Amino acid sequence: MSSELSTADQAAITSGADFWHTTPVEAAGIPGVTVTDGPHGVRMQAAEGDLLAGVPATCFPPAVASASTWDPDLLRRMGEALGDECRAQDVAVLLGPGVNLKRSPLGGRNFEYFSEDPILTGVLATEWVRGLQSRGVGASLKHFAVNSQETDRMRVSADLDERTLREVYLRAFQRVVTRAQPWTVMCAYNKINGVYASEHHWLLTEVLRGEWGFEGLVVSDWGAVVDRVKSIAAGLDLTMPGPDAEGDQALVTAVEAGQLDPRLLRQSAERVRKMVVKAGERPAGDYDAAAHHALAREIAGRAIVLLKNDGDLLPLTDGGQSVAVLGEFARTPRYQGGGSSQITPTRLDDALTEIQASTSATVRFAAGYSVEGDAPDEALLTEAVEAARESDVAIVFVGSVHETEGADRDSLDLPAAQLALIERVSAANGRTVVVLSNGAVIATKPWDETVPALLESWLLGQAGGSAVADVLFGRVNPSGRLAETIPVKLADHPSYLDFPGEHGHVRYGEGLHIGYRGFDAREQQVAYPFGFGLSYTTFGYGEAQASAGEEGILIRVPVTNTGGRDGREVVQAYVSLPGSRVSRAPRELKAFTSAEIAAGETAEVVLTVEREDLAYWDTRLNRWIVEGGSYTVEIGASSRDIRATVSVDVAGDPDRVPLTAESSVGEWFADPRGAELLAEAFTAAMAEGGGSGEMGAMVADPGILMMLGSLPLSRMAKFPGSPLRPEALDKLVTDANN
Ligand code: BGC
Repeated sequence: MSSELSTADQAAITSGADFWHTTPVEAAGIPGVTVTDGPHGVRMQAAEGDLLAGVPATCFPPAVASASTWDPDLLRRMGEALGDECRAQDVAVLLGPGVNLKRSPLGGRNFEYFSEDPILTGVLATEWVRGLQSRGVGASLKHFAVNSQETDRMRVSADLDERTLREVYLRAFQRVVTRAQPWTVMCAYNKINGVYASEHHWLLTEVLRGEWGFEGLVVSDWGAVVDRVKSIAAGLDLTMPGPDAEGDQALVTAVEAGQLDPRLLRQSAERVRKMVVKAGERPAGDYDAAAHHALAREIAGRAIVLLKNDGDLLPLTDGGQSVAVLGEFARTPRYQGGGSSQITPTRLDDALTEIQASTSATVRFAAGYSVEGDAPDEALLTEAVEAARESDVAIVFVGSVHETEGADRDSLDLPAAQLALIERVSAANGRTVVVLSNGAVIATKPWDETVPALLESWLLGQAGGSAVADVLFGRVNPSGRLAETIPVKLADHPSYLDFPGEHGHVRYGEGLHIGYRGFDAREQQVAYPFGFGLSYTTFGYGEAQASAGEEGILIRVPVTNTGGRDGREVVQAYVSLPGSRVSRAPRELKAFTSAEIAAGETAEVVLTVEREDLAYWDTRLNRWIVEGGSYTVEIGASSRDIRATVSVDVAGDPDRVPLTAESSVGEWFADPRGAELLAEAFTAAMAEGGGSGEMGAMVADPGILMMLGSLPLSRMAKFPGSPLRPEALDKLVTDANN
């Protein structure tokens, strides 16, 4: 239909009508549709002018928490519920999920992202998108790409090599696009190697559409477009927000002047139209707010990570112990971060009320600190210490005070007032539990050594208060796992020396070694490793078996619940290739699954490492290659708690690199055909006396030949007395590659 649109209409439809609507073209019967944030709730702007105030909607756990469930099924159910809420509010596209990787623990938007690992991120986000889109509502996979910091986010250039880009930062996007076909992909604000994401032809057209087969439309992040003409030429379709009359006119002028291929504008307009038509097919709907709150509670309960539980201090029992609940966050919950993802919840549970409802024993409360002040307040501390002394157990609620889109953090430390509370309370009561609320990593050393129990409860959404009580009182047996490493200190982090960059550039100096990959490569101690999390029960692993086939590696391992409670174990498979031809991390997560196992029972856990996940990006061949060899598969309860190891032979992809005159002597000899031809050429030349000089003698000596290994053939041919003549090179190269 858009072929009937005038150039002016085509231009108009490729920019928004306002902040949250696409532009209608009434004459052509194309309505405008609503798009809104995202990602852990539906943030429909309530009043004109106030961008952040939304119509009440379920505030599900932000990605930092939902990722800690390591459960794709829960993410799919969350996507479905979000889809239902979108239908109820007539939303066509929900702006999420965010699949940028957590490169630094300081990242201001880490709470909106899943993990430091691309496979974990990709698997979870794929199910979220499938769930949402099963309701006829579109997703917007964001922020494409390499948008892993807030500092200078609208301009900074993320500078990184192609392997790191492909294998780490694009991998989750690739997985979601190829498996779930999100309706839209949102391009990032930043530049990648000097080019704005919104003008990046290679990224938006060659890779996204050409290689991955993306069929939807590319929308800009809000305000990411600098030059409409360049953006359309690069493959960006819809500029948000609008209106943008000037940009629309620039497109028309560029088409008329022959500076922009009219087919590109027509194609983008067509993509917008198709999305609008598809959105029109979704039925209206309604949702059950109570059921969604219950789902938010279920996910939140599964997201909590039990980091420490000395002497089985937890779970508490109803009526068993008097409890001191300490810390302002117990009654004023920290449950989401700031910025575009901020939801107005349908209701809000707080931990204090939920703890009171969970026990018939005495519950005392003291605020302990004020959220506004960083400095310890002696009166508040004294009150908290007294409550702790009088009670059997003290539960201290602390966390990050403010995390928001638009700003990175500058420290991993808790405010001094909160640190003082932990110190004073744990000195007064040996049975102290600390509950953390934070969207990104908080340093736990050294204070965690003074507390016997520690819960990482992230930002849990509107039902976080009840979910925390569920775990404290054992109604939920914790099974959350860290989706990001907690370092001992910031300076240990692989990103530390290159974050957040300066003067418009950030160098991804750690390359492939993001997160646990870097800690493992440098054999660095961490506070709590990637994949870690305790349970109120224990699990034992039997011997693992692995076999390789066309699909990848199939792993089986028996897991036994060796404790006294039913529980869920998250089983993780890490893979490495000793002696690989390319640099690799000591272990990379390639598969995971979880199993509910009753006390005393054994389950046979099956994991599949997909063959494509074994591939590395070969920069010589410009494609993904599965290197053949004997892979080590480590099966564990965390990246640093490996319970079973097996080796498995995997057949490699054809990976012959064409030989050229610039290939080195060593590369020629490493290639069977090349070696044969080169040996023949040397022998022939020497027989003719051509190589009888010094060079001839040199290549006849294997030791010296080794020294010459790095010499490109073309340069060897120029040496005096060389057994290779420059004029023989062309034929040699042709023969070697045929
Ligand atoms: C954010 C996006 C968001 C958009 C619309 C931007 O500032 O980066 O994640 O979807 O605003 O609110």
